[in-house]
Amino acid sequence: MSQDKKDKFLLSLVVPAFNEEENIDYFFQRALPILEKYNYELIFVDDGSKDKTAEKIREYAKKDKRIKLISFSRNFGHQIALTAGYRFSRGDAVITIDADLQDPPELIDKLIQKWQEGYQVVYAKRRTRQDGLFKKLTAYLFYRFINLLSDVPIPTDIGDYRLLDRKVVNVLNDLPEHSRFLRGLTSWTGFKSTYVYFDRQERKYGQTHYPLSKMVAFAVEGLTSFSTKPLTYITYLGLLTSVFGFMGIIYALYRRLFLPPEYYVTGWTALFIAVLFIGGVQMIMLGIMGEYLGRIYREVQNRPHFIIKEKVNLN
Ligand code: UDP
Ligand code: MG
Repeated sequence: MSQDKKDKFLLSLVVPAFNEEENIDYFFQRALPILEKYNYELIFVDDGSKDKTAEKIREYAKKDKRIKLISFSRNFGHQIALTAGYRFSRGDAVITIDADLQDPPELIDKLIQKWQEGYQVVYAKRRTRQDGLFKKLTAYLFYRFINLLSDVPIPTDIGDYRLLDRKVVNVLNDLPEHSRFLRGLTSWTGFKSTYVYFDRQERKYGQTHYPLSKMVAFAVEGLTSFSTKPLTYITYLGLLTSVFGFMGIIYALYRRLFLPPEYYVTGWTALFIAVLFIGGVQMIMLGIMGEYLGRIYREVQNRPHFIIKEKVNLN
């Protein structure tokens, strides 16, 4: 691409922020020198922060029209914050990046370079990460497990630091669904993609907003968004337990009808185990069906994805 064209394109940087007041100044310090090289807009999505996140961003936005803010009425979650950022972005290329500087802004140049080489999706892939062993292990298992079941490949060891071409953003913006597992949806669009490697840093200030409970919920969301295989597998499991159950019935009848009475007062153990086992299996099946039912319910309600309290430098 010629230098001229390079200067003309608009870059949107989308930053979801939930209670990140300590990180905002530092984020500007690190990101602005890089952004200055481009024609850019910087869109912050304040995901219902209770601290001074929005106030801090507003200060910057007052001085520079390229800095924009969307504030949600309450916390809607990371993926929805990204969704809103995509919706309001105008860029030819849109990069999403965390506010806590775990995603180094210095990588932006490399992402753009790949985009200019003709890739519509450029993922920033973690070569290493500084998180604790537990987070590393659960993240590892999450990606392996989800890919085992998912109908579309979910790229491993990537987060939400990525560049999307305008075409891809338009597709995402047109998707009506409420469960927005964006990594999967991006892969699902099928555009040409590539990776850029980086070493994930530790969080600058504050704490992760993804405790174990949220991580599990996120994993279930990812899984049920991209696969109905759990429903198929529980059917198999049901069939298998039915076969065992049937064999148990034959065996019980045999003992009752053909063996002397002292044989059928025993067998309490087998009965007890069978009841517990079938009960457990049924509960799991009901749970899985419930997950899908819940998803259908949420889609049918068709509520807006997010509610905006305030916009700055945006129409
Ligand atoms: N975030 C958000 N809404 C939430 C949780 C997180 O907008 O409900 C933002 C957060 O401010 C950060 C990014 O999403 O910019 C990633 O969150 P976090 O750092 O807590 O996740 P981790 O890096 O630990 O996976
Ligand atoms: Mg983080």
